[in-house]
Amino acid sequence: MVNFIWPTTTKKVTSGFRPPHRPSHHGIDIAENGYHEIYASAAGTVSRSENNQNGYGQCIFIVHNINGQTWETVYAHMRDNSRTVSVGQTVRQNQQIGVMGNTGDSSGQHLHFELHKGRWNGSKSNAVNPLNYLDVKEEPNPITVPNETPSDNNYYRIHTGLFTTLSGYERALNELKAVYNYTIYLAPDEPKLVGDDEWRIRFYTGRVQGQNNARILKKAFEDRFSWNIHIVDANQDHEEIDYKAAGNSENTYYRIMTGFFRSLGGFNNARATLKQSYSGITYEASDDSRLREDGDLKLRFYTGRVMGITAAQELKARLEQQFSWNFNIIEAQVGKK
Ligand SMILES: [Zn+2]
Repeated sequence: MVNFIWPTTTKKVTSGFRPPHRPSHHGIDIAENGYHEIYASAAGTVSRSENNQNGYGQCIFIVHNINGQTWETVYAHMRDNSRTVSVGQTVRQNQQIGVMGNTGDSSGQHLHFELHKGRWNGSKSNAVNPLNYLDVKEEPNPITVPNETPSDNNYYRIHTGLFTTLSGYERALNELKAVYNYTIYLAPDEPKLVGDDEWRIRFYTGRVQGQNNARILKKAFEDRFSWNIHIVDANQDHEEIDYKAAGNSENTYYRIMTGFFRSLGGFNNARATLKQSYSGITYEASDDSRLREDGDLKLRFYTGRVMGITAAQELKARLEQQFSWNFNIIEAQVGKK
């Protein structure tokens, strides 16, 4: 896929490519008030730089040769005296070539931008819709699980190092999901450590057989990502949390919330008792504490976040074994203390 970039500092499209009411509009109009530089959408060679009398006004044409395919882009209606490049000059992608204006056949400041697959011609038969090409990211090559004859009978996984921020973890997981189309697991020994202030979380792959396959997969990860990557022994099966489907209940954060306490003494006792056996952070329900001064006490508290419904159910079961209060699983709002 070819990567053309937006040719100016705004993406406000005010007229599309060959709409039904304007079939001879062979480009798109991008318009916004103010000062907007115009950039070469891809690297190439300037084929025209002129004050065109047939409607384009102050305009620049650039010819691009990308993987053997010729393209030509047109930038029209630029400001007088703003063109910075001349015919025959080579330009880099994103190099400034002018400023958005209102010259030629134009009513109101805008950039008229055309993209031609092949050279521009008078009938504009090669024009294509630029919106199908702008900012289209190159598809990264996927990472495939190696399938060589195993060098031994043992199983291995690839573990990431620990992530200590939620945002870093989520960014890494999304980067991985973009290129690794297999099941990804949350390290099962970590979710109990996940409090609001202290993230310690990592993920790992499914099992591969043989050191040779594990090394190939590790290298594929290291070539692509800057995280720490480890090979770990995976002969023993253990419970695994499937992270493959984004937005599922294992990819959501939960807390355990107690039921209401009707006396301040009972509430304080309960929270102190909990702290003796639960090392995680606990919070007072912030929407209920304002009721504390009322005659009608409605107090409860909740735990720090845990990742995934399975981990939440495990924590709830553990708390219910030790305490007689009501416990509920609630979805955790990220950022809420
Ligand atoms: Zn136009």
